[in-house]
Amino acid sequence: MLLRAGLERRAEPVRARVGAGAAGPAIAPNLKNMGGKVLTRPSLSMLYLGSYWRTERGASERQHIDGFARTYEQSPVQGVLAQYGAGPARFAGTRVIDGVAPRFVNRGTVRELVMDHVRRQRLDRDPQRIYSVLLPPGVILGDGQGTTSLKGMAGYHGSFLDHAGRPVYYAAIAYSGSLGRNGINFNGRARDAITVTLSHEWAEAVTDPDVEHHGTAWYDKRLGEIGDLAITQLPLQQSFEFVNGYAQQKLWSNRDQRYETAPLRR
Ligand SMILES: [Zn+2]
Repeated sequence: MLLRAGLERRAEPVRARVGAGAAGPAIAPNLKNMGGKVLTRPSLSMLYLGSYWRTERGASERQHIDGFARTYEQSPVQGVLAQYGAGPARFAGTRVIDGVAPRFVNRGTVRELVMDHVRRQRLDRDPQRIYSVLLPPGVILGDGQGTTSLKGMAGYHGSFLDHAGRPVYYAAIAYSGSLGRNGINFNGRARDAITVTLSHEWAEAVTDPDVEHHGTAWYDKRLGEIGDLAITQLPLQQSFEFVNGYAQQKLWSNRDQRYETAPLRR
């Protein structure tokens, strides 16, 4: 889950030392595999909720976000995820779900949207597909436990079982506006906040896919999943960087002992 909570709690010396990079993080993250599986052949399906995504601004943002999804398989960040045994996620399609979006979306809504999409396709579903539901401006995302995108949450990922008992993987992404009220305002640009959030959730979805039904895979007992480490340990401005024109969140590397969007060359 991409949640800003905890940023305010960080002590200043921790920030400085992590930011400097030389001394290494004061709180050493340590991701461990708790026994769950990872996704070795994931794929990405993009679902844009509401007609906003067909407006001039929305279509331009959608093109940028789809560009990130299309190139994600080739992104250097795959070299970080491979350290945890996850495979590169290939792009598998994009769709606008036309009509008026609900004002509030929770995990139940996301499940319904994803299953409706799966039924429409009438094909054998890729068992490692991650369905990413992107909300339009102003729509509030809730996690069902009292946290919403009005309280610093930009998105989450999860899993559920379909009628045949097979897992379905999803991510839900709030539209993080430049005003900073909904989601997280990283740099004033919604498209960048959205690709940062997607990169966070996809990294978690491939290294800890079965969170809601089978149990945990890669996890740090104190700090959370792979995406949660940088966002709680680094200043917001240092938690992401641009890679090939797309803003991505840094991930913790056990091997390189640092936050990175590309592995150290050895
Ligand atoms: Zn997270």
